[in-house]
This record gives sequence, structure tokens and C-alpha cells, in this order.
Amino acid sequence: MNLKDFEKFVEAKIVSRGYEYFKHDEVRKLEKVSEHEFSAVVLGSEIYTVYVKLNDETIVEYECDCPYDYGDTCKHAVAVFYKLRAKDFTDSAEKLKGILDNLHHDSLRAFVRNLLKKDRKFRHEFLREFDEDFEEDEFEEEFDGDYY
Ligand SMILES: [Zn+2]
Repeated sequence: MNLKDFEKFVEAKIVSRGYEYFKHDEVRKLEKVSEHEFSAVVLGSEIYTVYVKLNDETIVEYECDCPYDYGDTCKHAVAVFYKLRAKDFTDSAEKLKGILDNLHHDSLRAFVRNLLKKDRKFRHEFLREFDEDFEEDEFEEEFDGDYY
């Protein structure tokens, strides 16, 4: 898919809902987080986080943490595509890289330790990456039909 014509590849209903989200300014905090990657939050019935990887205008990869995102493109991702097309984002890539490159590993470890206690989502991602015996929570797999 390409930012210029992604509409062709997504169900019309989802395209129009995503466009409404974009038009009503429900895409917030769209940030460039690395040379080719972007992150945004989209306000809906809940707050969702969308990740997009671009190669020029080609959409290489995208992800939304809403329950609808099991294969098909959701309206939150579509809303972010529209905002990316409008080039309406903050560039945080240099800043993030600079901070991370200069961090001492003790500080990083303390930071991660703290997040592991407080942030269930982060803990889940951490275990998925590093725990050999990792198993998905059953409720993470549940599909809520209420999202499209
Ligand atoms: Zn979504």
C-alpha cells in the first residue's frame, strides 16, 4: 500500500470512518520516531496507539492496538495514513536517538524496572521479547465485534 492510494486496498466503510476520525482531529501526537517510523494516538471509544513504518510513501508495516487489528486495516490506521499524507507530524527522531545513545545502561535498567512494575502493557511486551516461556494471555486474543 502507498500513502497516495491506500483507499483502494481498504474496505470503503473503514476508509470513510478513518477519514472522519482524521477530519475531526482525533489523531493526536503523530510523531516521527525514527527515520522511517511513526507513532500516533487516536481517540475513539478508547485511546489507541498506531505505529506506521514508511519507505518514502510506501506503507511497509503498520499496527494498531485496538481489537479490530487482526489482519484487516482498522479505521485508526486509516486516520493516521491521512494525517501522514498531510505531513502533519512532529519530528522526534533525532531527540529520541540522542537521548537513548547517551543513556548509561544502569539508568536504562532502572527505568525499565520501574515500568515493569507499573505498566502492564510494557510488561507484556517485555516478556514477549525476553521470556522463553512466554504465553499470550487468553483475553488478549478475544475479539470484540464492536470496533468497526
Ligand atoms: Zn485500530
